[in-house]
Amino acid sequence: MKKLCAALLGLLVAGTATAAEVVVYSARNEQLIKPVFDAYTKETGVSVKFITDKEGPLMARLQSEGQNTPADVLLTVDAGNLWQAANAGLLQPVRSEALQANVPAHLRDPGGQWYGLSIRARTIFYNPTRVKPEQLSSYEDLADPKWKGKLCLRTSKKVYNQSLVAMMLAQHGEAATEKVVKGWVANLAAPPFPDDTKMLEAIAAGQCQVGIANTYYFGRLLNKQPELEGKLALFWANQGGEGVHVNVAGAGVTKHAKHKDEAVKLLEWLSSDKAQNLFADNNMEFPVNPKVRPAPTVAAWGQFKPNLINVAKAGELQSEAVKLMDRAGYK
Ligand code: FE
Repeated sequence: MKKLCAALLGLLVAGTATAAEVVVYSARNEQLIKPVFDAYTKETGVSVKFITDKEGPLMARLQSEGQNTPADVLLTVDAGNLWQAANAGLLQPVRSEALQANVPAHLRDPGGQWYGLSIRARTIFYNPTRVKPEQLSSYEDLADPKWKGKLCLRTSKKVYNQSLVAMMLAQHGEAATEKVVKGWVANLAAPPFPDDTKMLEAIAAGQCQVGIANTYYFGRLLNKQPELEGKLALFWANQGGEGVHVNVAGAGVTKHAKHKDEAVKLLEWLSSDKAQNLFADNNMEFPVNPKVRPAPTVAAWGQFKPNLINVAKAGELQSEAVKLMDRAGYK
């Protein structure tokens, strides 16, 4: 009995000594990530501590904490932001067979500093009472004078549009991209909107006829206001060409992670079949892992061809895109 007790105590102590944890700085809100981390802890026994904030303050915090940071993982949206974090030296390269297998090459940093974990598609939306889908084709076509006074856009200050224009720069070069952006500006029906939702509402209300938004805003809006069905519809852009602009929510291991192995394991799990729906579905995003099906509401939007340029370009060309939009008068 004494022996057994000692053995049990030994096990308990060993359990405590190895009680693993991982610390995440997250720009995704608590409501989206807590259920995911709870599931991870339940499955692995590893506790996940996290704080949430906007990506700017989180990156500033990582920077100022330096090697004293408690953070092991930075989780944020948009490849533009992930690229900035890597470029500022806040992340470290990770090599993982699981991550390479689960995350398509164009949705992760070629240097392994961050990995996409869900896909966000930024595409065209239109008011079907005024526009027929046959009239639509590409982001570039929205610069055609036929859309004069009919286009709505979100502000160029948002990283989503900076990434979209950066990807166009990668595709078409500066002169052609600037021509497109100038064309958009000339076609605007209203000054740029502060967010995608307000822009979508303007399309549904008939203030404009077409615009560009991330699909999950469309999903959320229709959930909240089902009466907008019939006044707002999704069109998969550039299907005859390079494909829809996709971006990611994703994560990287911090440069000074104290729990590097645990951090890598968490990222691997997040990209796995069992966690992908947990990570993507709550925000109506697409799983990054091609083996995993999107949620039914999301799948109902239909399949699309994504642009396969590496999303890291969104970061590399971000400052060029910002300058170009400024020159083009896109506020
Ligand atoms: Fe968003």
